[in-house]
Amino acid sequence: MGVGQRVAIRPKIAARLADPERLFELSTAKAWGYGIEEWEALPDEKRDELLEYERQICPRCGNLRSVCSNPDVPWYPQRSMCYATGARELTLRRLHKKHKDPGTDAMAPTDGMTVWMSRDDLSPDDEFV
Ligand SMILES: [Zn+2]
Repeated sequence: MGVGQRVAIRPKIAARLADPERLFELSTAKAWGYGIEEWEALPDEKRDELLEYERQICPRCGNLRSVCSNPDVPWYPQRSMCYATGARELTLRRLHKKHKDPGTDAMAPTDGMTVWMSRDDLSPDDEFV
């Protein structure tokens, strides 16, 4: 199927997708990497546990929603260090310094570029930084 082509959605499927509970269930199955058949083959207890996880765990902080939404709970900043992420962020700053922002009339050399870190120099001839 090409871009812009659409397949008519059967009314029965559209009605099922309009059901918020069904949509939530499908979103949960997708989030956990299950296809529909796999999801529906899970024991009820397992499906319920995953649905409850999605309902009760905050996707932003990973804590129980009942805890992180309580304004009386104290929170303390913690720190960990990831030098791969630090090296990536340094690379991105260098790239943005090297290439001026072309504004909205043209693409920047960094538009669409993904920078990731490797412990091996996989492209020693690519001096993009
Ligand atoms: Zn939260």
